[in-house]
Amino acid sequence: MAALKPVCSLCGKIRLFTSITRKSYIQIYRSSSTEAKQKPLVWEPVIGLEIHAQIQADSKLFSRSSAKFGSPVNSQVAFLDAALPGTLPVLNRRCVEAGVVTALALQCQLNKVSRFDRKHYFYADLPVGYQITQQDHALANNGVFRYTVFGQQDSDMVEKTVDIFQLQLEQDSGKSLHDELDRQSLIDLNRAGCALMEIVTAPGFSSGDDARSFVRDMRQLLITLGTCDGKMSEGSLRVDANISVHRPGEPLGVRTEVKNLNSMRSVRKAIDYEIIRQIGILEMGGEVVNETRSFDVETSETVPMRDKEVKQDYRFMPEPNLPPLRLYHSIDLAKTDPDIWKSKIIIDDLERSMPTLPRDKKQQLMDRYGISLYQATFIVGENLEGVYEELVVGRDAARFTQFFISEFISKLRALDLTWDMCAVPSTRIGELFDLRDVNKVSPTNGQWVLKAMLTDPEVRPAEWVESRGLWQITDIDVLTRACRTAIEDNPNAARKYLRGKARGMATLMGAARRGTENRADSLTLNRMLRQMLADKAEEGGNDADSKGK
Ligand code: ADP
Ligand code: MG
Repeated sequence: MAALKPVCSLCGKIRLFTSITRKSYIQIYRSSSTEAKQKPLVWEPVIGLEIHAQIQADSKLFSRSSAKFGSPVNSQVAFLDAALPGTLPVLNRRCVEAGVVTALALQCQLNKVSRFDRKHYFYADLPVGYQITQQDHALANNGVFRYTVFGQQDSDMVEKTVDIFQLQLEQDSGKSLHDELDRQSLIDLNRAGCALMEIVTAPGFSSGDDARSFVRDMRQLLITLGTCDGKMSEGSLRVDANISVHRPGEPLGVRTEVKNLNSMRSVRKAIDYEIIRQIGILEMGGEVVNETRSFDVETSETVPMRDKEVKQDYRFMPEPNLPPLRLYHSIDLAKTDPDIWKSKIIIDDLERSMPTLPRDKKQQLMDRYGISLYQATFIVGENLEGVYEELVVGRDAARFTQFFISEFISKLRALDLTWDMCAVPSTRIGELFDLRDVNKVSPTNGQWVLKAMLTDPEVRPAEWVESRGLWQITDIDVLTRACRTAIEDNPNAARKYLRGKARGMATLMGAARRGTENRADSLTLNRMLRQMLADKAEEGGNDADSKGK
């Protein structure tokens, strides 16, 4: 609960009774005032996001220089990007197509005519003195996006929707590198002019966790569409969060804007910090100031941004060097010369070329294999639906899905691997499941085999198990002996269990597993141990009874 700490330093008397990451409202009591204690004050946080997604394209929005990340400083700067007089912008078709495809996936209304504006501000990494953006006549408006929020338990998972106000195309700025040389700032224009899609949501989120869940699913959508690589650590996906709090039923409160959040964790933490800070101020009778803030990853706090203290006048004006951007449906062009078609952006053509969206993939998996929303979300979330579908066919879907998620995917995660990093053929994952499914390999040893397979493509599950003598023990005599020894060696644990303490059983299970070199089925061991202890208790009970008489 580290994120809650700042409240105390701000207002001392405030105590939080519910976790803001899970609830849509916060109840706050003034601990010192008896009157307030009787009447809890309820605040409702409201959050709207602006996502800046760098469009995955070979070149920039209006120039032909490369948009690749990580190239030597100032090696990707066309004359236009450096604002040389006489240069003119030429719109990159690929960027428009990416915007259209994304807008379609967000169920937006595409505007057949959109326009570019100049938004003026003075900053060293913006040599021309303005950004070309779409503000009042954006590429698309009025969309909606469905995303999932995980609760504490799988069954808590809910699907939510949020309205999308706008999707616009705009240029990115360059980067200022401060303090690289003594008292000088250096400018890198590699990023200047790269294409961004700005996606603006309605003020529809209620907590940091809620907003983060949206960003996670949005990121996955963009990656699936191939319109943004989603690399937050490289700045390809950055989030500005607008946050306010109000009393339910009353108008929205004054908002602050936390800029440039570049990880899921920062999105959640910055928002939760800001909610608590604002409630703290309002509770003390203060007012929230409408300002731009930044998030300090070190301290997990938001701080005012100094360069934005003065309210900016952006002096918006139409960009005179770019004609209006027109989109077409093929029906609009039906009667024109086929050559004209080639130069046009045709919405229905793009729509036909779209891949299956994550939400549809999830639904397909649920319909085809009868798995839960949680399971489908998990599989699609890891981009593993291809492997999953290849392997589940012909196997018991419920048991295979269980194995796939709780053994295979969790092992990948534990090893910090992604599936495409592993050279192991997917059929071998199926082979391992088959061995596990007929109890030829215990869960613990199954994990060992998986680890070996994922890190060494030569490993074949059956051979590996054979060569190490790890086949599961099913011989009842061996298992009985191991259980009996476990109980005899751990009399305290046995007594604890008989007194109703669960920990006692954990110790006994550990001993019995070791006694079988982890080659026994845990459920069988557990059943046998319980039975033996129950028998023992009965004997003990009978003894006591007879003594008492
Ligand atoms: P501006 O253009 O001044 O930044 P917008 O109306 O475009 O304002 O809104 C920007 C973002 O701020 C949107 O994501 C919107 O949902 C969000 N927003 C607007 N008002 C509030 C509010 N009171 N609380 C939280 N978010 C808000
Ligand atoms: Mg804005």
